[in-house]
Amino acid sequence: MSTFKAPKGTYDLIPPDSATYLAVREAIAAPLRNSGYGYIETPGFENVELFARGVGESTDIVTKEMYAFETKGGDRLALRPEGTASVLRAALEANLHKAGNLPVKLWYSGSYYRYERPQKGRYRHFSQVGAEAIGAEDPALDAELIILADQAYRSLGLRNFRILLNSLGDQECRPVYRTALQDFLRGLDLDEDTLRRSEINPLRVLDDKRDAVQKQLVGAPLLRDYLCDACKTYHEEVRELITAAGVSFEDDPKLVRGLDYYTRTTFEFVHDGLGSQSAVGGGGRYDGLSEMIGGPALPSVGWALGVDRTVLALEAEGVELSLPASTSVFAVPLGEEARRVLFGKVTELRKAGVAADFSFGGKGLKGAMKNANRSGARYTIVAGERDLAEGVVQLKDMESGEQMAIGVNEVVAELESRLG
Ligand code: AMP
Repeated sequence: MSTFKAPKGTYDLIPPDSATYLAVREAIAAPLRNSGYGYIETPGFENVELFARGVGESTDIVTKEMYAFETKGGDRLALRPEGTASVLRAALEANLHKAGNLPVKLWYSGSYYRYERPQKGRYRHFSQVGAEAIGAEDPALDAELIILADQAYRSLGLRNFRILLNSLGDQECRPVYRTALQDFLRGLDLDEDTLRRSEINPLRVLDDKRDAVQKQLVGAPLLRDYLCDACKTYHEEVRELITAAGVSFEDDPKLVRGLDYYTRTTFEFVHDGLGSQSAVGGGGRYDGLSEMIGGPALPSVGWALGVDRTVLALEAEGVELSLPASTSVFAVPLGEEARRVLFGKVTELRKAGVAADFSFGGKGLKGAMKNANRSGARYTIVAGERDLAEGVVQLKDMESGEQMAIGVNEVVAELESRLG
């Protein structure tokens, strides 16, 4: 027998741990659903050109990490490395921005693919929940998104995360800064690659993780000193609104992030228990992206939170989510007649919304009770020939150990009322 393994850099979500992932997705989505964001789902792959234009030709994501391929029909596609470009593409294609109701607020949840060097917290297939607010330039919208992400993390019980905040300026002030930064970088002792990067995308050099580079960057010009008045005012208002909401953050004048499309507000959520892959989520404003992919001017803002790293952050903080047991009632039939009757009861319970499971495979009492225990069910119903002849089943409370006979026709109503 061959034994296949999950591809390098990927892993499977299996019970019981998979329940935590679902709960994390749900917890991130809940504040969005509650704030006017509608659910959107886009394909797992797109035309490669969408990402090249939308994410940026010079980014690692596009040049090194994209799963790009040609189909048998000759289409050049890529597995999506991130969500924003696809969501904006879909919104433009469906003319959501023309419905006269801006901003268009959307949330999504799904799988993303990057050909990265795998390590703890960095995978080739990972999962994000994201939100995009398309078509409005309003600092309250930037603030709303930051506040909702904070709320999502707090609702999960996370405490040791920090919010880093910066402004990347706009078309007016960023080019001036870019030139000043390039002048500064040209005077440093940098390797070929980094020099090339400083010509194409100098802001990304600020993001270099290497100590030797960071040391040289002390004294580099900071964008914050170059922001135009409009960007300064905008940023100040974002800061005031999130402060007023009781959300604390740190100004990080070097925060740039790995995607080219950001303008003005950028932020990252970092968790201090995760080692080198500390970013659990990030986002910002992308006022120019729509035009970059052929749409009209639609100033927008969004974020994506990583589900995998959020789960790791919960582990790092020792937070156990209190997940409800997946099964409330477990049915144990002894004999053919009991199988028929209890299978019917399980179906009735499920229809009534009670989580119920059944001992399959014709097990004996001992094996079946083991399954009942493992299921975490609060109640077990057991029935043998003699019980059925008397018109009853045995209802056992697995917490107290108490057991009582109850009429076959009453047991569903009784369980419904006990489980409230
Ligand atoms: P980004 O689109 O790079 O800003 O990523 C947003 C979030 O997605 C990050 O903060 C991570 O939580 C998550 N993420 C990005 N890349 C990976 C990866 N390779 N493995 C796991 N999570 C990732």
